[in-house]
Amino acid sequence: AAGDDGDRAPVAVELDGVSKRYGDADAVDDVSLRVREGEFFTLVGPSGCGKTTTLRLVAGFEEPTSGTVRFGGESVAGVPPEDRDVGVVFQSYALFPHMTVGENVAYGLNFAEPPEGVTREERVAELLELVDLPDAADRDPESLSGGQQQRIAMARALAPGPDVLLLDEPMSALDARLRERLRAQVKEIQSELGITTIYVTHDQEEALAVSDRVAVMNGGTPEQVAVPRTVYREPATRFVAEFVGDNNVFAGKVVDAPADGELAVDVDGGDETLRVAVGSDEEEPTATRLPEVGDRIAFCVRPEHLRVASVDEAADDEPGAPTGENALRATVANSEFLGETTRVTLDWGDRELLVRAVDPLDGAVTVGFDPGDAHVIEVETR
Ligand code: ATP
Repeated sequence: AAGDDGDRAPVAVELDGVSKRYGDADAVDDVSLRVREGEFFTLVGPSGCGKTTTLRLVAGFEEPTSGTVRFGGESVAGVPPEDRDVGVVFQSYALFPHMTVGENVAYGLNFAEPPEGVTREERVAELLELVDLPDAADRDPESLSGGQQQRIAMARALAPGPDVLLLDEPMSALDARLRERLRAQVKEIQSELGITTIYVTHDQEEALAVSDRVAVMNGGTPEQVAVPRTVYREPATRFVAEFVGDNNVFAGKVVDAPADGELAVDVDGGDETLRVAVGSDEEEPTATRLPEVGDRIAFCVRPEHLRVASVDEAADDEPGAPTGENALRATVANSEFLGETTRVTLDWGDRELLVRAVDPLDGAVTVGFDPGDAHVIEVETR
């Protein structure tokens, strides 16, 4: 098994066939994951997919119904949270309001000695420096912003020098702008310490932005574990394709599959035959069986890969206008101006397509895409 990881860092935390059952439902269902030393690993997925339960199993707040959690290769079954060398930060700041910021951070040291030759005061100062709040020691936690309070909560969790940092939606109570700032700070602190981190969020954009690797969870199980770029470009399942970012998923029947060429697919919901390239140029390609004539497949094309032009412009043969291959006729249903781009929803038959445009669009349009920008996500043998 070591061969899978090549020369990468050793495994710090491993879940091996872990399930957690509440009543007659599996909150976590046969999860196997390996988090490497120093890695920023994120569990992302919709509400109820089992992210928090997975994190609680790692922290030791819950014991698995079946399966094994290992730290550094050793089972931690029955080991209580305080003996697992983990630091935990929750969604709510959970700072003690009757203590100063410095006392809150020092509280994190209560069960641990500061490193040799360092006083408690020095250790607290070092941690406040780390979270970029060097002058906050005497302040009242409630006088800090939400983002600052979360940084203090991180300093407190890091005080005893844990091997693993566990963060459960630490930013979900903050507004969007603060969240973006704090996520950059969290990432900086993590890389400065090189601490193995498991992060839980329902926010897929946040997950892509901060993580070394991401596990996209659905119904208690990860559907894909990969680097952010692969999750985005080569989603392994339809769920991942639709959960991570905007996407257009097409389904249809393969009508031509030349040995080294592009597939021709009769898509559901339209009269068009679309061309789709198979194959991958990514580092961690997801295994998709090569489709054959008669198979049903699903593939996706990101909105930014759909070229769109109003029908009038397309008729002028304007450079870049989507004509010829993979041209779809659609009408604009809605344009949302987002500043940098405009997110346009199109009606295509009784389906919707999402595209990106520079300016709001209106009326009839043609949409085209390069066969190489389509990614096959499912193949169903006939
Ligand atoms: P959220 O983002 O909403 O917190 P999540 O992905 O973290 O969701 P979990 O909190 O892990 O999901 O919950 C997974 C499933 O397990 C849910 O259906 C939840 O209702 C159930 N569950 C979690 N904890 C318990 C519990 N203590 N008792 C019973 N059911 C639970």
